[in-house]
Amino acid sequence: MALGELPLSRSTLDRNAALRSDSAALLAAWGDPSTRVLPVRGGRVPLLGTQLVTVAGPTLDTWNAGHGASTALKVYLGLDSQSGTQCFAASAAEPLPSDNQPTGVEVSDAAGPAGSPTFVPEGTEWVSLRDVATRLSAADAGLAVASIAMFNWHGTMNYCHHCAAPTEATLGGWVRRCTREGRELFPRTDSAVIMSVVDAQGRLLLAQNAAAPDPQRVSVLAGFVEPGEPLEAAVRREVLEEIGLAVDDVTYLGSQPWPFPMSLMVGFTARYGGDGKAEELVLQDDEIAWAEWFSKEELVRAIEENRVWLPSKSSIARGIINHWYGDDSLTSPVDH
Ligand SMILES: [Zn+2]
Repeated sequence: MALGELPLSRSTLDRNAALRSDSAALLAAWGDPSTRVLPVRGGRVPLLGTQLVTVAGPTLDTWNAGHGASTALKVYLGLDSQSGTQCFAASAAEPLPSDNQPTGVEVSDAAGPAGSPTFVPEGTEWVSLRDVATRLSAADAGLAVASIAMFNWHGTMNYCHHCAAPTEATLGGWVRRCTREGRELFPRTDSAVIMSVVDAQGRLLLAQNAAAPDPQRVSVLAGFVEPGEPLEAAVRREVLEEIGLAVDDVTYLGSQPWPFPMSLMVGFTARYGGDGKAEELVLQDDEIAWAEWFSKEELVRAIEENRVWLPSKSSIARGIINHWYGDDSLTSPVDH
């Protein structure tokens, strides 16, 4: 059995990469009123109810110009494969506190919550993708995850890592080019492994990260892949480092982008051949606060007693726990 559908792995985007090098076609798509442009500001995207708010490119240009800015970054995301609509993500200028006064840049007939002119409908919230992933449609989830991942990468790449000269976005936002050397800098994603560890009795190991803010919040183990390391070796190394156990039968389950800021989580399950005695665990001091084996019944009871909170429903960690449990019926006292 593979993992169920993961909230941030859903998408209807056809990335249509061939258009990235056609600047005339990109310009025409930007100006087309049917194009969906997702504004991004401060790592957040606009949401009204359960739907992302998208605007026309010229509308966003007008808003930005009214705040003394050009649309600093445009990323061509591709075509929605269901509707055929062209999609972009683009930067929206942050209004300063003084912008709560009318500025004459009214490009929408709806006013913002503070009575300020705005370019999105009244009631729109600027939200973190992490908080709303499970509420979005597949089309909106795909749009939002690609947008946030790309904006996070651009945010790290304003200067060339080779010569420190400024860089500029090109090829529909999929490359940054060094303005001194012409060197092309490509988007990157950091691979991390995340894995269930199951003992000979079928019990699941759950652990609390030492940095977790809530003492009940648990998860499966995870860690970054090191350079030159195969994924399966990273799983065995992380389990050994974090809880002192040697595991085998490392089996791939599925993957999910996690652009906070720029990771790809690759999910596995691994088998511990022993019968999971608590005294066998050797916890990594600075990483793991506590770890414990749970049968399905023990986990249900621990949740009912409010001793354990499961990871967020938007995370692959939750999908991996559901995979072990057999379905997605587990609910947690603090659950979103
Ligand atoms: Zn350079």
